[in-house]
Amino acid sequence: MRIRGLRAWCTARGRGQFALTLTTVVMLTCACGALVVLPNFALPEIRAAQPASAQSLGQAAADDPRLATVRRILEPFGAIDTERIATGDGQESLVVGHGNGQAEMAVLGDELPRAVAAVTELWGPRWPRSAMIVVAGNASEFAALVRAGSLLPGEVAAVTVTDPFAPGTMPTGQRVVFSPDAGARLTPDQLRTLLRHELTHVATRAVTVDGAARWMLEGFAEYAAHRARGHRFGDIAPTVAARIRAGELPTGLPADADFAGSRAAETYESAWSACAFVAEKYGEADLVELYRAIAAGPADSVAQDRMLREVLGTDTAEFVTRWREWLSAQPR
Ligand SMILES: [Zn+2]
Repeated sequence: MRIRGLRAWCTARGRGQFALTLTTVVMLTCACGALVVLPNFALPEIRAAQPASAQSLGQAAADDPRLATVRRILEPFGAIDTERIATGDGQESLVVGHGNGQAEMAVLGDELPRAVAAVTELWGPRWPRSAMIVVAGNASEFAALVRAGSLLPGEVAAVTVTDPFAPGTMPTGQRVVFSPDAGARLTPDQLRTLLRHELTHVATRAVTVDGAARWMLEGFAEYAAHRARGHRFGDIAPTVAARIRAGELPTGLPADADFAGSRAAETYESAWSACAFVAEKYGEADLVELYRAIAAGPADSVAQDRMLREVLGTDTAEFVTRWREWLSAQPR
């Protein structure tokens, strides 16, 4: 399997204990230009993982074609553990790693069935509903798994890789790769959130074009990641909450450029809040419809304004006004 198209999706969390920035790496592979946007986490101690509801590696898993490339990359670095996870409707997901990733593998494997079900509940059943999850054992392996060409910054938490695919077809070869440091930097709950975020990108990839407006791509993934989990506004979006307390409300939708650099954490939070606003005020069906419209591109403001009119019956200015009103009313 040759991976030519590579997209890394990122989760940025700005909770108090996080020090977060985003790094952008541009990769050119074959005929495809691919943009990799990577999250930067600086997080506290590792916590005990929960036992996975996984089976040990069996012949069926060993023969799974999805494993071929991953096994080639992982084998030079030591013995491989593979867990097969039933993720509903006869689908089977794989969690792969080495012995030093057992704690993360256990958390991810345990969460996978719930995460797949949760993403399906929001997005619908038209995605593979299975996933290849790989926990990298070291920095070299991590870079190889995502075909980065060089070592990734140590703050990168996870990258999702996709084979190139024709529009209108279902992507294949998708895998979510967790960095060797993710387990040490994320609490189990944060690891579960990151898994759901990445799985949302996997589920929506078939209808998402490169260059679509990132506030919708990342905001939707964040909305799916936190949905129905009892997370409070102030926990999900602490920076935005602080801005609101200071009387500062957004004057427009998050700009693509702000998903990297010093404003990244706040921008992710803001994107989440825009999607949470749509879900609450218009309904999740309209949020999904809006995602499908905006993710199909282009990202320019004229097209976005047209899509907001078509799906929500509002123009951008009115949308931002209502979003600001909703933000002002949120418990913080
Ligand atoms: Zn993302």
